[in-house]
Amino acid sequence: MSTQALSPAYRLEQKRSINGTFPGPRSTELNARRAAVVAKGVASSVPVYVSDADGGIIRDVDGNSFIDLGSGIAVTSVGASDPAVVDAVKQQVEHFTHTCFMVTPYEGYIALAEKLHEVTPGDHEKRTVLFNSGAEAVENAIKIARSATGRDAVVAFDHAYHGRTNLTMALTAKAMPYKTGFGPFASEIYRMPMSYPFREENAELTGAEAADRVILAIEKQIGADQTAAILIEPIQGEGGFIVPAEGFLPRLAEWAKSKGIVFIADEVQSGFCRTGEWFAVQHEGVIPDIMTMAKGIAGGMPLSAVTGRAELLDAVHAGGLGGTYGGNPVACAAALAAIETMEAFDLSGRARRIEELAVPRLQQLAEDTGVIGEVRGRGAMLALEFVKPGTKNPDADITKAIAAACLAEGVIILTCGTYGNVVRLLPPLVIGEELLSDALDVLEAAVRAQL
Ligand SMILES: *Cc1c(COP(=O)(O)O)cnc(C)c1O
Repeated sequence: MSTQALSPAYRLEQKRSINGTFPGPRSTELNARRAAVVAKGVASSVPVYVSDADGGIIRDVDGNSFIDLGSGIAVTSVGASDPAVVDAVKQQVEHFTHTCFMVTPYEGYIALAEKLHEVTPGDHEKRTVLFNSGAEAVENAIKIARSATGRDAVVAFDHAYHGRTNLTMALTAKAMPYKTGFGPFASEIYRMPMSYPFREENAELTGAEAADRVILAIEKQIGADQTAAILIEPIQGEGGFIVPAEGFLPRLAEWAKSKGIVFIADEVQSGFCRTGEWFAVQHEGVIPDIMTMAKGIAGGMPLSAVTGRAELLDAVHAGGLGGTYGGNPVACAAALAAIETMEAFDLSGRARRIEELAVPRLQQLAEDTGVIGEVRGRGAMLALEFVKPGTKNPDADITKAIAAACLAEGVIILTCGTYGNVVRLLPPLVIGEELLSDALDVLEAAVRAQL
């Protein structure tokens, strides 16, 4: 692999093209079949069905090509069919697809743990355990923290998203659509105020002060000595791409350390070069006790990981952690290849370049239109928060309309946020600059057309 090339080779032409109206006939037919067999609870935001995807392009079954600014929710950072990932998967499936690491182990699991210890922050002794989904990683991080500390209470934050299983629903903040009707939820979860600079009543509040607000609440409402873990997304994902004020994370991590509380960074969405560093905590030099990782880790194959201090992970009794599929050999091979691609093509650098290209344009757009309250994010994890002009009142309607207008022009963008008023940009990190620029043209026009 050449390190000179800017991106892995693309198979599909990196160009947006929509043939007339869509969904086309084949997607329409699949939609009808789907309605008869797939549960309504699984919703799709885009009404077309995929036939192929590569680099920054998703092609549908009717031959339309869309620019992908979602990466399957921050998963395909190396592209949807990175040649190195495809090769690694092919080679692995020709030998064995599964044996179960808890029965007959294999090298890929170990090699991936070694690699994760290299790229995660901190030079302390580490241990890793692999799972399938982000939610499963978070559940297990909590199991480990409780087992190692002998304490029950877990602190999570306003606007948090940690998954859809019972424990992770309890950790997730937003009721609809994630929690409504699905209780009762796991106990001993305490929700604390996030640092959300744009919506802070006191605009002068520093990150350290926002952390002290949390610390005081933990001391008064839970007791530090009852608290097993503080679980936080260093940049919140589904909650609205909320970047806490500078100093918030370091202060919390430092206090947790002084009280024997396990500081868990949920890097499931923000990890693997997405924000311009391997992990988002690195922007402020924070070294978590435990990190949860998934999404971008394996080029689209289902895999997640919990990596943390050896003394914490090794506190769990033998047999206490695991799962039939955790650390599947094909997924491990894909992850090793994906991480190699991240290194070979400096995808952290690419993420920073995406920020450099996009942010000035988005800021200009905010200035010109008055409907964007804040442009925020790091690297290629960027967001626009839409408000009613002259206020901070969330505008979910315009957000939806903009996403729909972009889609109509062949650009897939995702929304998020507690108030449904955030457009988030999560392009594959390998996206070409011309394609990105074309997508931003479409987004800008969509915003201006709403005025
Ligand atoms: C997506 C996400 C999860 C859940 O991951 P799944 O693989 O969907 O279970 C957990 N934490 C964060 C921060 C996420 O973005």
